[in-house]
Parts: sequence; C-alpha cells; structure tokens
Amino acid sequence: MRQLLIATGNSHKLAEIRAVLGPHGVEILGGDDVGGIPSVIEDGASFEENAVKKAVETAAATGRWVLADDSGLEVMALGGAPGIFSARYAGEEASDAQNLAKLLQEMSGVDDRRARFVCVMAFANPAGDVLGTVRGTVSGRLLPSGRGSSGFGYDPAFVPDRHEITFAEMDSSLKNSISHRSCALQAVLDSGLLKQISDCPGTGVPVSRE
Ligand code: IMP
Repeated sequence: MRQLLIATGNSHKLAEIRAVLGPHGVEILGGDDVGGIPSVIEDGASFEENAVKKAVETAAATGRWVLADDSGLEVMALGGAPGIFSARYAGEEASDAQNLAKLLQEMSGVDDRRARFVCVMAFANPAGDVLGTVRGTVSGRLLPSGRGSSGFGYDPAFVPDRHEITFAEMDSSLKNSISHRSCALQAVLDSGLLKQISDCPGTGVPVSRE
C-alpha cells in the first residue's frame, strides 16, 4: 500500500489525520514508524512557511512522501494571536493547559469571543520538493472557561459555529468531520495530490541538499 509520513510529533494530530486519510488507500505513518523525524525549527512568518519547512526537511531527512501540518488558533480580539505561536503562547516549553490558561486570562472580560482554527498542510515528494499546500479553517467562539476532556490544545474553550459544545466535548468523529484539519485534508483529497505517491515506499535514504 502507498505510504505517507506525517511530519508531526503531536500524537493527536497524527490520530486525526489517520482517521480521515486512512480509508483512502494510504498507509499513514508517524515518526515512530520510521525511526524518528527531524525536529524542525518553526521560524516561518506564516502557517504556510512553517508547513513547507516541516515538509521539506522531513522529506529530505527520510526520503519519504510527507504531509506536514502547521496549525493554530486566531482570536479576532487579539489581532489574530496566538496564531503561529499557538503551541508556545505561554512560553517555549509551555503545556497545552498553560497555553489555554494564558488565552483565557487574556480574554477575560472581552466581549468579542470570535476565533478560528487554521490548518495549513504541505505535501512533499521524497526529494523534498513541495508539490502543493492547502488551507482549512473553522470559525467559532471562545468560552470564558474550558469544558470537556477530549482532543488537545485549545479544544476545551472552542465552540465551532452551528454547535453548542466544545471540540473537547465532541467525540473524535464529529470533530474530524468539521475541523480545520479535516477541511485541509479534504482539500488534499480533492487536489489529487495523494495519487502521486508511488507504491514504492521511500528508500529511507536521506537526500543530500546543497
Ligand atoms: P504546531 O504543532 O506548531 O502546528 O502547533 C499547533 C498548536 O496549535 C497546538 O499545539 C495547539 O495549541 C493549537 N492547535 C492546532 N490544532 C488544534 C486543534 O485541533 N485543537 C486545539 N488546538 C489546536
């Protein structure tokens, strides 16, 4: 079966991507399945730049077809923050709980609760060439305090439009049918990019890049 390596160390992201792409005839691999993936410094100025960097460096290091995800939460009243800094909003080594606590503190007493999750994915071939990027978003609002224990990150505070429960209160199949990540994955499927993966798995030989 065709194989696709997901360039993430986040087990929640990997599970969500596997749930959506798994039924489409592609074996989804995580870093643990290939002996590890490089840790990529996310110093891009946009989700797109970071996703491309993760895809290129991971493909070049592993010689595999790669899909990389860069995602985060944009809050309107905060001018789009935390945005690309979502994973480290409360500091470089901050936990999800610390990032969420900081966000809820910043939003304390703020009337405009509008927010959206953004996910950008970049698809690279084993030579490290990016063949395409896609973007998915989901809009909603932030609660004053978290509810629910599923998911990860800012899920407990986020209620998507047309719903009354948070992402952390949804079962994974419902989140996976409406999330920013599932929108981006649908765009990957619609683009036909996955058809380019050859049946031959990666060589596992790193590509040397000048
Ligand atoms: P990345 O690993 O640099 O893409 O950072 C993603 C960060 O954005 C995560 O650590 C979360 O804080 C946040 N995030 C992205 N997607 C989600 C989601 O589906 N639910 C909750 N938080 C998310």
